[in-house]
Amino acid sequence: MPSDQPLAEFTAAYAPDDAALADELLASAALPPDREARIDAVATELISSIRGSEHGLGGVDAMLREFALSTKEGLALMVLAEALLRIPDAATADAFIEDKLGQGDFAHHRIKSDAVLVNASAWALGLSARLVHAGETPQGTLAALTRRIGAPAVRAATRQAMRLIGNHFVLGETIDSALARTKAHVREGSRYSYDMLGEGARTAEDAERYYQSYSDAITAIGRTSGNAALPARPGISVKLSALHPRFEAISRDRVMRELTPRLLELARLARSHGLAFTVDAEEADRLELSLEVFAACFADPSLSGWDGYGLAVQAYQKRAAAVIEYLAELANALDRRIMLRLVKGAYWDTEIKRAQERGLADYPVFTRKPMTDLNYLSCAGKLLSLRPRLFPQFASHNALTVATILELADGSEGYEFQRLHGMGEALYARLLAEHPQAVCRIYAPVGGHRDLLAYLVRRLLENGANSSFVAQAGDDNVPIAELLTRPAAQIGRPENARNPAIPLPRDLYQPQRLNSRGIEFGDRSALAALLGDIETARRPLPTIAAATPAQAAAAIAAARDGFETWSRTSADHRATILERAADLLEQRRAPLIALLQDEGGKTLDDCVAELREAIDYCRYYASEGRRLFAEPLALPGPTGERNTLGLRGRGVFVAISPWNFPLAIFLGQVTAALMAGNAVVAKPAEQTPVIAELAISLLHEAGVPRAALHLVQGDGRIGAALVEQPEVAGVVFTGSTEVARAINRTLAAKDGPIVPLIAETGGINAMIVDATALPEQVADDVVASAFRSAGQRCSALRLLCVQEDVADRVIAMIAGAARELRIGDPRDPATHVGPVIDAEAKARLDAHIARMKREARLHFAGTAPANGNFVAPHVFELSRASQLTEEVFGPILHVVRYKAAEFDDLLDDIAATGYALTLGVQSRIDDTVARVIARLPTGNVYVNRNIVGAVVGVQPFGGSGLSGTGPKAGGPQYLPRFALEQTVSINTAAAGGDAALLTGGG
Ligand SMILES: Cc1cc2nc3c(=O)[nH]c(=O)nc-3n(C[C@H](O)[C@H](O)[C@H](O)COP(=O)(O)OP(=O)(O)OC[C@H]3O[C@@H](n4cnc5c(N)ncnc54)[C@H](O)[C@@H]3O)c2cc1C
Repeated sequence: MPSDQPLAEFTAAYAPDDAALADELLASAALPPDREARIDAVATELISSIRGSEHGLGGVDAMLREFALSTKEGLALMVLAEALLRIPDAATADAFIEDKLGQGDFAHHRIKSDAVLVNASAWALGLSARLVHAGETPQGTLAALTRRIGAPAVRAATRQAMRLIGNHFVLGETIDSALARTKAHVREGSRYSYDMLGEGARTAEDAERYYQSYSDAITAIGRTSGNAALPARPGISVKLSALHPRFEAISRDRVMRELTPRLLELARLARSHGLAFTVDAEEADRLELSLEVFAACFADPSLSGWDGYGLAVQAYQKRAAAVIEYLAELANALDRRIMLRLVKGAYWDTEIKRAQERGLADYPVFTRKPMTDLNYLSCAGKLLSLRPRLFPQFASHNALTVATILELADGSEGYEFQRLHGMGEALYARLLAEHPQAVCRIYAPVGGHRDLLAYLVRRLLENGANSSFVAQAGDDNVPIAELLTRPAAQIGRPENARNPAIPLPRDLYQPQRLNSRGIEFGDRSALAALLGDIETARRPLPTIAAATPAQAAAAIAAARDGFETWSRTSADHRATILERAADLLEQRRAPLIALLQDEGGKTLDDCVAELREAIDYCRYYASEGRRLFAEPLALPGPTGERNTLGLRGRGVFVAISPWNFPLAIFLGQVTAALMAGNAVVAKPAEQTPVIAELAISLLHEAGVPRAALHLVQGDGRIGAALVEQPEVAGVVFTGSTEVARAINRTLAAKDGPIVPLIAETGGINAMIVDATALPEQVADDVVASAFRSAGQRCSALRLLCVQEDVADRVIAMIAGAARELRIGDPRDPATHVGPVIDAEAKARLDAHIARMKREARLHFAGTAPANGNFVAPHVFELSRASQLTEEVFGPILHVVRYKAAEFDDLLDDIAATGYALTLGVQSRIDDTVARVIARLPTGNVYVNRNIVGAVVGVQPFGGSGLSGTGPKAGGPQYLPRFALEQTVSINTAAAGGDAALLTGGG
């Protein structure tokens, strides 16, 4: 970037405490009574005009009336149409409608849970309270409609609804049609900011396509933009995620190198036409990177003297004020103006979910809506005071928010309001009529139906959420006075700032257990601190000698002795030790990650996930252990007798684990066996002995007696020597089906007690993708499932089955997304795919690739570094699923196409593999999902998501058939399998009568 200005870095706590923020916000919220009264008056006017308007909530009523159907039924059609919009091609869309309307049979269809229809927020599209009564469902309404007017008419109406939804929220399918639609309004002085739909490029081609569409749009807008001066000129809004296929924190260097110049080119083009140019705000983990890209581009001298460059800032983020201050400093430093659009934010539910999944200390967004509103107003005040350095643009459809800003601005100029096309029409019509100095710009999405989905879902959520102003204003039962309640009054005191119904991510599983602590890579300072700690903790790997068979036998004997004491300890004592181990794992995060990278070849993301899984196992089995082992279960029976069922340890358990999860699977097995009261002899994989040693010493440190827990290093021969020992009371094994069979035979050949084997083995895991699936989502999920951890997870995707109608597009997107993966040194946080475990694995995979190149159609071959055990991701197409006969443990994806009409054959082929570990289904048709689940007994089925990364206690893991014996690790049935059951019946009447009966018999 040709700039010699040193740019300040944005720093702000990622997810600070709500109460401290509320304290500040509340202190400055109050206005003098006369000003509050004026706000009440204006807001009341605006709400009344919304409620009284012909167009209601921005024309939705009108849209529904066009159906010439009752509005309730129109609404139900909207719901169906919204789902229909996701579907790429006409033929499948027809099939989808048929599926939903069931060729007349729809009318007789029993209403069952249908995620597409039930959860569609469109049902609550702002009008729900008026139109829909409790218990009514969209499909119920549609069923009645179909009975009345027939399926063909409903089908036609659905298509009409689809067009109307598109037209309602989208200004035009092309920039030219959009410009034609706004021409007259622009002449009358309306301001627009055009938004080219489509976001989240997955491939370089996508990013290029979006770039081109932005660039073409800027030229087209520029051509028709008239002679007004900024800020009264039209503008364009761009999404950074559309312009780069890996717009993510860990790819920072690449993003700065590749995306910043692209953004600059667009900004220059916009400047050449004198347009306003706004970078949209996206997810919180991208904020720091967005600001860096934004600032680097802004600092370019070629933009100097232009006042049209701008950014959106989200007030639901706790860092909003810090962002505004940062931008004001930046504008000062460069002596330019920034246009700053203040929004509340459109990804709230995604933010909450992500923070929970990643186990963050707190949320980056507020958890109560009035806090968002309060922060918005505070930021608005700040922005108004920072004029003219910043040009404030207040984007809101909330009458109270708008009225308050009008008051804060106090008749001054140098700011504008903004609304979305299709929303806020009545509100702003009234506002502009009463306050001629006010200005409102319309944000106008442009694009085809295919690109509408993500945008539409955000709008539907916005309209449908109970908390949203639009929904409340649409509900006549909500008194206006309630809508005027100030956010400060709703919060009251700082202690109320947090939503008690949304636990902190750490407390997600309470009262059972703590969630493991994670990290947000989008939090630069947290990432830097972790990386620093890891480097400090890195040590050369020691050499570890294998045990001899005699030492293995001695370990079993010693464990037998250790068992006597350990099995008599209380369950609570054992659980406390496991919890201490979890805490130690959390404290030793850095050395453990360093070791997982150096010995296991794992990427940072995989290391964090694995460490968290290990911690979760410790805490989960501790809590399960307390539940199951603390007290025997009292059973019903006749009076005068006490019957209980208790669990106790079996004896010595041998735990044999693989190298691919050298910490999590290793500790999961060991802690489960220990919690159940067994002594354990653990044999880790010979590829990862150092991690095992550290894990065992950590358990000893946490309080597991040395006599109860022994580590025996070595390869398969030592494992076999352990299993052969007569004293072994149980074996828990994770690895190949072949070795599991060998263990089973050894155990069966022994005299003495028959001991249990808990085996978790491999899988030929499939994902079925039908034509209703969203290709972008499929690409994300397939790439994560097939290539993450270099495909070395037993859950990894091996066989992708795509409906032939969409196969070309889906496969191309997967290949394009795979091409963007960075393969290399796992210690570099920017690496997506590390090496495979050793030279032997590499040789095996290379041989498979060579064979596939002869026998299958190659769709994609990545490039991997030449030195080291790297295997690049590959995608091969097979002619039939049955061509894949064994688990290929690496980043090689096999694809088959299937015909919709031969769906059952496909399921038979998958079943015929004999494996049943993980399975993915990507479909919007619930019947399809139900059919797959009913036909295949696969252990872990994932619908419309990736198929890896099972979370302890949330997605208990393990399969059946060739994939293992069960019970599932991290599930409620696991611990009892490690235990003996003991029933105790005590005749309480034996000592001279049934006292309990006599005293209670009255
Ligand atoms: C012109 C324009 C441009 C936009 N550009 C962007 C953009 O670049 N990036 C973006 O993210 N959004 C953008 N939006 C969308 C915008 O965020 C939403 O339209 C906005 O949040 C709705 O706010 P409101 O004041 O109209 O409604 P209100 O109903 O008053 O507020 C809704 C807000 O409250 C939040 N909320 C709901 N429940 C809670 C809770 N429990 N805790 C905390 N907060 C809660 C919602 O997430 C939402 O942000 C834009 C909107 C407009 C009008």
